[in-house]
Amino acid sequence: MSISSGSISSSPAPVAYDPGSGPVLEVDDLHVEFRTRSGVVSAVNGISYSVDQGETLAILGESGSGKSVSAQAIMGILDSPPAVITGGGIRFQGRDMLTMNAEDQRQIRGPGISMIFQDALSALNPVYSVGFQIGEMFRAHRGTSRKEAKQHAVELMDRVRIPAAARRVNDYPHQFSGGMRQRVMIAMALALDPRILIADEPTTALDVTVQAQVMDLLKDLQRDTGMGLILITHDLGVVNEVADRVAVMYAGKIVETGTVDDVFTRPAHPYTLGLMNSIPQVEAKGGRLNPIVGQPPNLAAIPSGCSFHPRCPRARSGVAAAPGRDCVGDVPPLRLVVPGREAACHYSEEVLGV
Ligand code: SF4
Repeated sequence: MSISSGSISSSPAPVAYDPGSGPVLEVDDLHVEFRTRSGVVSAVNGISYSVDQGETLAILGESGSGKSVSAQAIMGILDSPPAVITGGGIRFQGRDMLTMNAEDQRQIRGPGISMIFQDALSALNPVYSVGFQIGEMFRAHRGTSRKEAKQHAVELMDRVRIPAAARRVNDYPHQFSGGMRQRVMIAMALALDPRILIADEPTTALDVTVQAQVMDLLKDLQRDTGMGLILITHDLGVVNEVADRVAVMYAGKIVETGTVDDVFTRPAHPYTLGLMNSIPQVEAKGGRLNPIVGQPPNLAAIPSGCSFHPRCPRARSGVAAAPGRDCVGDVPPLRLVVPGREAACHYSEEVLGV
């Protein structure tokens, strides 16, 4: 679907992911801190990634790995203070958003980059109808009349497959099921035809059947519009189903990145390998799960060297370590390990067996 100022075309041509199209969004060495009374929390520690037209990048990690904070930095919705972007750049179609003025940022956030959240009920305003809230996007950004905005809202509700959209446009959020509320959020996010959609755990609050329906809807909409999709999740199954590439985050850094097929079939980082081994296997009925031992680190006191070393079964230090590759003392850089794959581990070649 293509929405222009005041009109909606209803028969879009599918737009395929074109790896040669160039990045729409580039995040470059981004650093975010939270400066609290009890100390500095280093939430994002130099992450870089890019998203092309029509591409789905999954950002995968446990709670507290920094994946949502980096998305909030892109959207300009970090609470500041205490959050401070201390370094790096965020470029949308080549323009650095961190150095542009507030009005230029407003022209990008919403029309250019949009976001949907995990909990639609708290993201929607309970005292306004869903039609009013969807229509607000058109009124605020395009000065559309109230009547026209309502018509656009009905068309968008139709587009995200909310049954009887014309009748339900005046209903309130509490009158919708969780899955339908998430569709309302998606309609709002798509209203201005964004080039990038960030979906932060979009299906976590939904049951499994509805999760699959919402992910199918997102993929269909992406195919129709050609938008890039950043999917933030801790759900390996969702990543495997819908993403083209994956960036695995740990302690505010990307520790592995590559195509989903490559990373899932042959992880190059022990953390990714641990995530894969912790997936319950249907055929291993009665078998034991293999969770990663220990807890994610406190981001106010990140371990030295490789931040994963206290939990890593392959960690080596002192005389056991190769020169310059001491897991406790030397920070492993994110580096090309094999073509198309980067990992931040001193011993990725061993993990891969190459
Ligand atoms: Fe494990 Fe060392 Fe690799 Fe870190 S650098 S993941 S501690 S082997």
